[in-house]
Amino acid sequence: MAMEILKGLATTLRELGKKPTTVSYPEEKRQLPSRFRGRHVLHRYENGLERCVGCFLCAGACPADAIYIEAAENTEENRVSPGERYARIFDVNLLRCIFCGYCEQACPTGAITLENIYELASMRPEDLIYHKEQLLEPEGSATRGSLDAWTSPPPEDTTTPVPSRQGFFDGQVATATAVGQGDLLARQEIKLGDEQAARDETAAEEA
Ligand code: SF4
Ligand code: SF4
Repeated sequence: MAMEILKGLATTLRELGKKPTTVSYPEEKRQLPSRFRGRHVLHRYENGLERCVGCFLCAGACPADAIYIEAAENTEENRVSPGERYARIFDVNLLRCIFCGYCEQACPTGAITLENIYELASMRPEDLIYHKEQLLEPEGSATRGSLDAWTSPPPEDTTTPVPSRQGFFDGQVATATAVGQGDLLARQEIKLGDEQAARDETAAEEA
């Protein structure tokens, strides 16, 4: 019995000299791993356009049916993303979400990532349905989020066909850059669906 007490005291004395592992939240916050999956963020390109092209792949991949999207067509007067469409409505129901990250893996443009935002408590369940306005990063910000922690960037000279059977996207030669790393200027004129121009351009390059 005395032995057990001495062992217990020895453990207490050993721990006394160690730094505490608790933090004084909320004044102090833990440094989380770069692959921590918290609340979603929708990203922009550096030219201000939204990365999301309203393709629904993330919603299709979601095992919890937590994503609701309504897509709308881009027009010359109202260009929101570099694709044909953009997400007019993009909701994530965080009460359903299991933070699996399938949505960010499914996204072809790196538009959605799960970030280290974990302060998600709410008094009302409806407040945990996050809308596009809350998820989208502010104008002037163009981050890739946790994507870099999950994927290695492709070699610089890699070109990948875009998901278009004609092999063009916005009237330019198709590359992964055109889809995923867009360098279009926000107010640049964009030739959407100009197949003949794309064919002429390709033919001129091949000649
Ligand atoms: S993290 Fe998983 S469950 Fe949550 S929205 Fe994305 S795919 Fe759905
Ligand atoms: S977030 Fe990505 S996968 Fe989801 S609709 Fe937008 S572009 Fe498609």
